[in-house]
Amino acid sequence: MTPEEKRPTILYIEDDPGSQVLVKRMLEYAGYEVMVAGTGLAGINMARQRTPDLILMDINLPDLSGREVTTRLRALDRFQSVPIVALTAQSQVGEREKAIAAGLTGYLTKPIDVDTLPGQVARYLQGQRDEVAPDLLAEAQTAYSREVVERLEAKIREVEKAYNELNRLDKMKDAFIQLTAHELRTPLTLIYGYGRLLYDSPIVAAMIQQSDDVGRLIANLLEAIERMSSVINEILLISRVASGKVELSISVVRVVEIIQGVVAAYQSAIEQRQQQVVVDVEQAPSSMYADPDMLTLALENLLGNAIKYTPDGGTITLRATQHEDRVLITVQDTGIGINPDEQALIFERFYTAGDTQLHSTSKVAFRGGGLGLGLAIAKGIVEAHGGRIWVESAGRNEQTMPGSTFTVSLPLRGRLASPIRQH
Ligand code: ADP
Repeated sequence: MTPEEKRPTILYIEDDPGSQVLVKRMLEYAGYEVMVAGTGLAGINMARQRTPDLILMDINLPDLSGREVTTRLRALDRFQSVPIVALTAQSQVGEREKAIAAGLTGYLTKPIDVDTLPGQVARYLQGQRDEVAPDLLAEAQTAYSREVVERLEAKIREVEKAYNELNRLDKMKDAFIQLTAHELRTPLTLIYGYGRLLYDSPIVAAMIQQSDDVGRLIANLLEAIERMSSVINEILLISRVASGKVELSISVVRVVEIIQGVVAAYQSAIEQRQQQVVVDVEQAPSSMYADPDMLTLALENLLGNAIKYTPDGGTITLRATQHEDRVLITVQDTGIGINPDEQALIFERFYTAGDTQLHSTSKVAFRGGGLGLGLAIAKGIVEAHGGRIWVESAGRNEQTMPGSTFTVSLPLRGRLASPIRQH
């Protein structure tokens, strides 16, 4: 072979490092280019990327068997005529026939013979094919099909078991989070209570009179505690949302009042950011069935985000409209926007897009990124009401500020299927 000629490429699929080194060296010495894959799946990927001239295949691989890898590759057009040759320690009766039935071209058994292997490889490259008598082949085909189905069944059982185990661990984790959050909340309530007592006590009041610093320190302390308790409440709520345990107290609610309440809750933040909030409720239904506290919380999360991700001076529009038996509530901002590939992900737990520090303002101090729970909570609440939530945005751009529009669609009658008398 002259240096200009392209060297034939051989893919060796084998998990034993000793055999890998030996065969690679031998075949490279004989003038081949050799690639090695340590598992069946890695072998399939490598073969697909490089389409070798010949594949040497161990049969006992850690994931798929060499027979299964061959059957998989033969299903692809470009591997129909590539020689795939077994190089295996399996020499029991029937193994060779089963390999040919699975689509292998030839069957070489270990131990590897340094003197003969390069010649054997060359012959398979030139078109040699191992033959098997038709009756033996039919028998081997049946045995191979049975083997594949049995392995598939065993794998499905394994996956099912792993899935159940993961589910169990996930539930344990949720229970752990709930328990921990509860345990943290109790002393925090006490700390807050004592803090307030301290703040209101005559001695401290006298100290505050003397020095502003004391008052500021205690106010900061109380604010930090409030912040921590809102994080704990978020965690508690999200673990209930995740385990599908959002309990709703449904009653007749006035949509306009809910929206006005949500805006009022953020009034000081809106003023601080010099943002303009437009409320358009002309087409809103007068009332609907919902859990007022939960619906308020979901909308607060949307408005809180709109404030966070919209620059100072921006505009946020809250709109409620009735469409047949549904109410659509939209929160539209003129902020940084959200990339299309992230628009579904942001509703997942603990997902935060991009650099949240940049434009963000946390719920209390209006600075710093959040936990990535707000939208997951909003989604859980909306879905518990039998509704849907989604976002539309042209993409994220901190120069052009394309904005985002979050929409909540809720059934006016809540989850109840039967017609309800309005009170
Ligand atoms: P966080 O507490 O981080 O705000 P959320 O679940 O409320 O968590 O939001 C998840 C992510 O979605 C945020 O980190 C942010 O990247 C993105 N996001 C949410 N609302 C907006 C919005 N109005 N404009 C731009 N990005 C937003």
